[in-house]
Amino acid sequence: METIYTADALLLIYSFVVFLFIGSFLNVWAIRTLDGTSVLHPRHSHCPSCSTLLTWRDLIPVLSWLFLRGRCRTCGEPISWLYPLGELVSALILTFIVWQQGLSLETFVILTLFVFILTLTMTDIRAKLMPNKITYPGLVVILLLRLFIHPLGLTDYGIGFFVGGALLTLLALVPNGMGGGDIKLFALIGLALGWQGVLFALFYSCVWGTVFGLPLKWAGVIKPRQPIPFGPFILIGTLTAWAYGADIWDLYMQLYR
Ligand SMILES: [Zn+2]
Repeated sequence: METIYTADALLLIYSFVVFLFIGSFLNVWAIRTLDGTSVLHPRHSHCPSCSTLLTWRDLIPVLSWLFLRGRCRTCGEPISWLYPLGELVSALILTFIVWQQGLSLETFVILTLFVFILTLTMTDIRAKLMPNKITYPGLVVILLLRLFIHPLGLTDYGIGFFVGGALLTLLALVPNGMGGGDIKLFALIGLALGWQGVLFALFYSCVWGTVFGLPLKWAGVIKPRQPIPFGPFILIGTLTAWAYGADIWDLYMQLYR
């Protein structure tokens, strides 16, 4: 697909700053969806401990948290490090996508997909939930985008949707398997990346889950049978699949030629 603008240093720096603020919004979106409150009202966030309204000085991504040393300016209660982490990871991942692909219509679709995966990862880490209130709008938005922007044939994405949903439904049947939220998320990933893409995404999610999960289990950080949120692994697994999936596959196939 035609690239409108190739990534250069200035574009990447600009993207990173914009994406930090988007990451900040995704935090709010995730938390308010879990709370059941509206994303847009009230417009201003407040401290969960003392209810003081936050001003612009408290809302600069990452920097405010560092400057305040992770505490509320008014009451001194700790502010979760998940805020700056969410902002930073969002900005890094979204900027990585622009760096890989420059600016194009397809870049916009991929950024949209990852906005939804990032938000669902945030709710998964905070509450082990991937709410339908986020996944369903994601399916609608990606479907609409894919109707107009589709480097692969439309059927590839349609099959991807069903492959993502069906495979995960099978995995959900095994004990300690994935939950309903994961199933819908993989249907979303299939719709956005096509059936090959979603197979790679599932594969790399499991690889990352093993690479990070097993040592944590051995170290006793994760207790046996304790469910761990799979969201972060889906996030980096899907990113790996999108950026390098086919390359790594080709390399693997060459070994057996
Ligand atoms: Zn406070």
